[in-house]
Amino acid sequence: MTKRIAVIGGGIVGLATAYKLQEKMPDAKVVLFEKENKIGMHQSGRNSGVLHCGLYYQPGSLKAKLAVSGIQQMTDFCIQNNISHDICGKIVVASNEREINFLDDLADRGTKNGLAGLKFLTKEELTKREPFVSAKKALLVPQEGIVDYKEVMNTLASIIKMRGGEIILSTKITSVTNKGNTVIISDNKNEWEFDLIYNCAGLYSDRNYKKFTHKKRPLRIVPFRGEYLMLKPEAKKLVNHLIYPVPDPEYPFLGVHFTRLINGEREVGPNAVFAFKREGYSNMDFSIKDTLDSVTYIGFLKFIKNNFMFSMNELKSSLFISEFLKKAKKLIPDIDETMFVKGTAGVRAQAMDENGKLLMDFNIIREKNQIHVLNAPSPGATASLAIAAYIIENY
Ligand SMILES: Cc1cc2nc3c(=O)[nH]c(=O)nc-3n(C[C@H](O)[C@H](O)[C@H](O)COP(=O)(O)OP(=O)(O)OC[C@H]3O[C@@H](n4cnc5c(N)ncnc54)[C@H](O)[C@@H]3O)c2cc1C
Repeated sequence: MTKRIAVIGGGIVGLATAYKLQEKMPDAKVVLFEKENKIGMHQSGRNSGVLHCGLYYQPGSLKAKLAVSGIQQMTDFCIQNNISHDICGKIVVASNEREINFLDDLADRGTKNGLAGLKFLTKEELTKREPFVSAKKALLVPQEGIVDYKEVMNTLASIIKMRGGEIILSTKITSVTNKGNTVIISDNKNEWEFDLIYNCAGLYSDRNYKKFTHKKRPLRIVPFRGEYLMLKPEAKKLVNHLIYPVPDPEYPFLGVHFTRLINGEREVGPNAVFAFKREGYSNMDFSIKDTLDSVTYIGFLKFIKNNFMFSMNELKSSLFISEFLKKAKKLIPDIDETMFVKGTAGVRAQAMDENGKLLMDFNIIREKNQIHVLNAPSPGATASLAIAAYIIENY
């Protein structure tokens, strides 16, 4: 009998899952549901557009494994489908003694994760590559690159439809009920019956889990907004490729960085500000439901208590451009406010546990015929094809 499979969520993880399901089971009927009227409207269409190769992640973690295989799969997919991308490499810049130690650790981690060609740059090599960067020490990561994830998602969607799959837009799945060996899903107007469903709902993955399984959420998604500024055309020469700071190992955020986009624009960001709305892209956006969901969570209260200065600094960087640029000036001291215009913003779906710990690794759970992708933060876009293959194989 033909297997009927639903994917809930038309971000890059949902699309990659539908695509890989068709590869693995060519006879299956795959239907993807997206609540917006277009695919990729949230995290996947609002990120830095970077192909991460596995530098940062704990050796042996799922993230490390899937980032390394994910960048390869994503690059191959781009080559096969003529999607513009550029493996331009990036530098990670240490600005003080403490960061030099972390940078050495990062190089170590990268090597353990199998990255070849990592190289500390001499002053001359750095100046040749990025003449405006100031660094105490700089690591070149040659495998990293840039891509337009919207183009990747549009291509995935076209292939899914070409192979006989369906993408149903403007359809928010509101209930899921297990019925024998099948699952009934509904948007309040229509009902569909499937053998298996994948919840790839990004910022709503935890709430969907609770609604669909009637179980307590094992973690909570706490939204962290990331804001960007764009360099004006006359200041673009300050950035050639990708310029990253050494991230604080306590946090999953990579820190404000400079990115060359695939269309030639240059942006700087993102910060990591607690968002009062899960899909709220401005600092004026507010949702009572989303805010209460975070602030009544014991984990969130513990997080704020233990990370008060971090949270305040990020908030300041959202309210004052000078505070935002302080972070970027560490990398390129010559910048000033006149060189930038406001850019876009994205909101990260960051999972947190009851102890207030930000969960670094990808997290997937199966409950009967429902598979829930509960945490797929950065580098979830790079690793999406590898995440998809992994969950299909293992859950
Ligand atoms: C600011 C920022 C910068 C980042 N930079 C990078 C980067 O440079 N490189 C990288 O690899 N990763 C990056 N990431 C991470 C990456 O974007 C995410 O890991 C990835 O996009 C997650 O994809 P997703 O499909 O899980 O989520 P999403 O893209 O958020 O998709 C989830 C989809 O589910 C839909 N949905 C939710 N509930 C329902 C429902 N009930 N019914 C139907 N549809 C529903 C939503 O509308 C949404 O379209 C960044 C993220 C952010 C926010």
